[in-house]
Amino acid sequence: MRYSTQLLLGIVGITVLSQTILGVIAYWIVVDADRSHLIEVLQDRAEQVAQDVVIPMVAGEPEDTALEQSRQHFSPSTDLALIIDSRNIVGIAGPDRDHLDRHVLLQTLLSSGRQPRNQSGMLPLADGDYLWVATPLIGLPYRLVLLERTETQHGTLASKLGSRLFSSGLVVLWFAVWTALLLASLVTRKLNEKNLALRHQVTHDNLTGLPNRTLLYEQLARAIAQPSGLAGNIALLVIDINRFKEINDTLGYDFGDQLLLEIGARIQACLPDNGYISRLGGNEFAVLLTDTNEQQACSHTRHILDCMNTAVCVSQVELEVGLSIGIALFPQHTDDADTLVRYADVAMHQAREHGSRYMLYDGNADTYSLRHLELSAQLRGAIDDGQFVLHYQPKLEMSSGRVAGLEALLRWEHPTHGLIPPDEFISLAEQTGAIEPLTEWVFEEALHFLRKLHKRGTKIGVAVNVSTRSLRDRRLEPCLAELLKRTGIESRFLTLEITESVMMHDISFAQGVLESLHERGIRISIDDFGTGFSSLAYLNHLPVDELKVDRSFVLAMQDSDSDQAIVQTTVELAHTLQCSVVAEGIETARSLEVLREMGCDIAQGYYISAPKPAEEIEQWLEENTAAAGREKTAVT
Ligand code: C2E
Ligand code: MG
Ligand code: MG
Repeated sequence: MRYSTQLLLGIVGITVLSQTILGVIAYWIVVDADRSHLIEVLQDRAEQVAQDVVIPMVAGEPEDTALEQSRQHFSPSTDLALIIDSRNIVGIAGPDRDHLDRHVLLQTLLSSGRQPRNQSGMLPLADGDYLWVATPLIGLPYRLVLLERTETQHGTLASKLGSRLFSSGLVVLWFAVWTALLLASLVTRKLNEKNLALRHQVTHDNLTGLPNRTLLYEQLARAIAQPSGLAGNIALLVIDINRFKEINDTLGYDFGDQLLLEIGARIQACLPDNGYISRLGGNEFAVLLTDTNEQQACSHTRHILDCMNTAVCVSQVELEVGLSIGIALFPQHTDDADTLVRYADVAMHQAREHGSRYMLYDGNADTYSLRHLELSAQLRGAIDDGQFVLHYQPKLEMSSGRVAGLEALLRWEHPTHGLIPPDEFISLAEQTGAIEPLTEWVFEEALHFLRKLHKRGTKIGVAVNVSTRSLRDRRLEPCLAELLKRTGIESRFLTLEITESVMMHDISFAQGVLESLHERGIRISIDDFGTGFSSLAYLNHLPVDELKVDRSFVLAMQDSDSDQAIVQTTVELAHTLQCSVVAEGIETARSLEVLREMGCDIAQGYYISAPKPAEEIEQWLEENTAAAGREKTAVT
């Protein structure tokens, strides 16, 4: 029930109750006063009558009929008149006197004593309550008693009083209702104002006055609850002010507060209509973009970053302020509000770690999820427990159809999560440092398998993927040298596949390491070529033997002329640099054919074979040795 209704009902209830109580009290006061008044009147009358009355006496006793006449004379309105002495009723006058219980009457009257006057009281008789007064008869040993019934008085009194009380009650009630309504509206308005103020306090940040985390979650929940298609996609940006702690420590908290105010205002000023800012706390802001998509979210993010290009001036100090922004998208990344905020936060941390101005959430690099935390902790133990296996995917020479080699691809056979692909755990291994023993294990396993194949007469090479951190590991080269020596494998049979983006990240460093590995005869392949914006000038100086066109281009080639053009250009570029070209991700006979026509050297993909465990690939190799011969004739 609404507060105003409760107040109204309360006041009306209290009014009605107090009216009733007051009415009852008033009634009894009036009844009492009326009784006292009646007694006085009766007494006066009795005294007057007692002076005038003459009682004819017959043999010392008053005569009954004379008494009746006297009653008519002296008390026409009185219900009963008695003459009593100290023991008996000596005379009685009045209607229905026969059924009066004389004994009770007498006992009551006699017990009232013998005071000369002012005797009065109530007398309950069979037909009702009577008021009585007694007064001595002058010169006679009798007392005159007048009785008057009270019931009729009560009835009229109650009805008179009742109607007055009712009408006055109605007036009071009317006032009470209006007062209650007035009070209710006043109180409700005050309460609403208080509630609004309280809500504002709970949902807004004290310093900047911007919405806080609570309100952000409310807005997010509302946006997510919209039927899909109405609100479209949602993007959440978590914005962090770089070096804020340093600024706070150096210039003081007041300065820090002013800076937060200024930056909050700047972000707000450059938001589109569908953008809502909030302060998450500390030096973190969030921006919620509704009805958007990845492209628009990135473009708004860049706009926010551009707004920070001019220096911020606080207390006459000019400061260049940088932001790191993480973006998470609904529903692409998650359909849960909490997770969306967390993902945007993770992306912001990723951006900061990579020194980027902004980053989209990347699940594979998210070391913050529970599963990833669990996997990170288990990585080293899993190497010792033998939970890792290598699968091998063959590569075919396009010209001859011969198996050119195998690519070793790592898998984690997790006891509870099943087979985990490398994309999920390699970055975790890099971050936890487990990548070094893991890479060592991969080399050991791959080269021992290769030795087995070589012994059997299958003289092919193996390619092993190497990550950034492994490349930075100074023990990599001596370790490889020792392993090659131990297994007796010629270094030309080993290829290191290094992702293009990794190599380009720190090109001068990569150049040194790769040159020294290359000098040992180890082949170098640039993996996922086309995704890392290689500088052609650098490419020319790197000791590269092979370019692997990224599978995304090969997969898209069939439907897109531009992807086909990229593949064609890569093939030509590789040949100009005197490298061989591998196309990975060949899934159809058609793409194999197109690549062959383009002059691609080596083919890899599900169409040829999916990556398989060692025993299965051995069998595959046996079966395909004969096929290779047939293929060779077909190709040439
Ligand atoms: P990558 O080196 O580019 O490996 C090729 C990936 O493409 C493999 O995924 C392979 O299974 C997949 N693939 C092969 N043929 C096809 C095809 O026809 N269609 C499609 N759609 N995909 C195909 P995988 O095994 O999940 O490996 C993913 C990435 O993980 C590898 O990409 C590599 O960068 C990395 N990785 C794998 N093993 C290792 C390792 O031992 N060490 C390091 N550092 N990274 C590894
Ligand atoms: Mg590879
Ligand atoms: Mg690749």
